[in-house]
Amino acid sequence: MLTNYHTHTVITDGKSTAEEVVLSAINKGFSALGFSDHAYTSYDLSYCMKDHGKYIKTINELKEKYKNEIQIYCGIEEDSWEFVDRDNFDYIVGSKHYMLINGGYYPVDSGEKTYEKCMELFNGDEMAFAKTYYEQFVSYIKERRPDIVGHFDLITKYDEKYIVFLNNPQYHSLSEKYMDYALENDVIFEINTGAMAKELRTSQYPYINLLHLMKKRNARITISSDSHHKDTIDFAFEDIKHMLRDIGFEHIYVLYDGEFKKDRI
Ligand SMILES: [Zn+2]
Ligand SMILES: [Zn+2]
Repeated sequence: MLTNYHTHTVITDGKSTAEEVVLSAINKGFSALGFSDHAYTSYDLSYCMKDHGKYIKTINELKEKYKNEIQIYCGIEEDSWEFVDRDNFDYIVGSKHYMLINGGYYPVDSGEKTYEKCMELFNGDEMAFAKTYYEQFVSYIKERRPDIVGHFDLITKYDEKYIVFLNNPQYHSLSEKYMDYALENDVIFEINTGAMAKELRTSQYPYINLLHLMKKRNARITISSDSHHKDTIDFAFEDIKHMLRDIGFEHIYVLYDGEFKKDRI
C-alpha cells in the first residue's frame, strides 16, 4: 500500500497546494495521504500556520471532494513546545525542531547557521548538544505520546557536512540510549526521507544503527517523505522498503479506514 502521513503544503513552508499534492498522490496510486503542516508556534511565526481552523477546513474539503479516489487525513506536525488540540486532528506527528536553552527557543534545522548557533551555545561540545536535544525530545514523547514521532535524530541533518555525530561511537551509544527510552512509549516512529529529497543527506532519519535497534525492540514504524513538494511525496520509498526488509522489518503501520494498522512492506 502506498501512503504518506508527513506532508507539507503552501499553507506552511511547502511549495505545492494541498490539492496539487492530492492529485499527485492519486496519480502515483496512493491509497491514503495524510497532511501534516506545521502547527502554530508562538515562539517562531516564520514557518508555521497562524490559523488551524482554515487549514482543517481546506483539508476536509479535499477529503470530501476526492473520497472516491483516495483516503485523506488531516494530521498536523506539532513542535514539542506547544501542544495542539488533539480532537481537531486525525493524528499528530510530534517533532522536535527547537531546543530550549536558557529560556530561548533555538531551531536545530532551519539552515546551517541555526545549527551552528546551537553548537555554539554548547561551546562546541557536540555530545552535550546531543544529550540535551534527546533529553528534551524523550520527555516530550513520554508526556505527549504523539501518534507518530517525527525525524527522531534531526540534529544529524547537516552531518554529512559537519561530520560530528554519525561517525562517532560516543554518539552512537548516546543516541541508542535515548532511542531505547523513546521506545518505551506506545508510539509509531517514522522513517523519514525528507532530507534526502532536499539533497542534504544521502540517508534517512533515523540513521541505520537506530533502525537495527528499533527492529530488535519490535518498534512500530511508518515510512514518510516529509514532503514539501507534490513530486516528492514518495521520495526514495522503494529504496527504504528494500533496506527495511534487509534489516528484518516485515510491516509498516499505515492509517487506513480511520485507524493505524499493519501493512506488509
Ligand atoms: Zn519537521
Ligand atoms: Zn515536516
